[in-house]
Amino acid sequence: MGIALGRGFDSCRLLYAFKRFWMEKQIQHCLTALQSRHIKGIFAENFEKGRQKILDLIPMNAVVGIGDSTAVKQMGILQILKDRGTKVLNPFETQGNYLGTKEAEEARRRVQKEASICDVFLTGTNAITQDGRLVNMDATGNRVAGMFWGHPISIVVVGKNKIVRDLDEAFHRIRNIIAPNHVRIRSVELGGRKRKAPCAATGECSDCRAIDKVCNILTIIEGKPSRTNLNVVIVNEDMGLGFDTSWSQTRITKIIKNYKKFVWISPRKNR
Ligand code: SF4
Repeated sequence: MGIALGRGFDSCRLLYAFKRFWMEKQIQHCLTALQSRHIKGIFAENFEKGRQKILDLIPMNAVVGIGDSTAVKQMGILQILKDRGTKVLNPFETQGNYLGTKEAEEARRRVQKEASICDVFLTGTNAITQDGRLVNMDATGNRVAGMFWGHPISIVVVGKNKIVRDLDEAFHRIRNIIAPNHVRIRSVELGGRKRKAPCAATGECSDCRAIDKVCNILTIIEGKPSRTNLNVVIVNEDMGLGFDTSWSQTRITKIIKNYKKFVWISPRKNR
């Protein structure tokens, strides 16, 4: 019995070591691909190392604009930036700060506008292909635009769960998993602004034409934007909403649980 347990334990450790090795290989592949596209790719073993790499990229006196990203929040980098005296323009403060009034919405828009042209832009991505393309779907466009326009430096943080094989897998993942779950969880499960998009109720994409659909702007970054130094920090952790249905239920549940904890909820209108 003892021997059997020992063997089981060893093979578990072996499997874990193999998975880790395979993942690091994939990340390395992405970093080399980014390099070939003149985009700076940076590896971080974990959240702590990732935070440090991001801090190293941001000058102390820079003004940092934020694009809505659960991964960025999950890393806990925003408070560290504020604590060290760096000005952070974050229109997506945690739920409750903007109460859905007209005035509050106007204030948020003002911050969003300022954040779209400042020293540094910090956000996350929906997917990165193994050959280094950043693929994103956005409702408003500020998050994707900030990656390539309006800032001398932009930083995109990526969890290992966002790495996909190719563009086909990226499109499939975004359309069938990320977007519908994002809408359903925020507007139904977590009580955010009600949406007419059918996926709010069904959790599935029907290629809708709803006025408030979130799939309005699809971007693929193929190379370094001419006027922006784009940095991609790949963290060897799961971050934000992104998974494949073939993964273990335990991993998927953990990704969704963490996402729910940090996601920004668009407020319901009070008046
Ligand atoms: S296209 Fe419409 S239904 Fe499909 S995920 Fe986007 S918002 Fe939802």
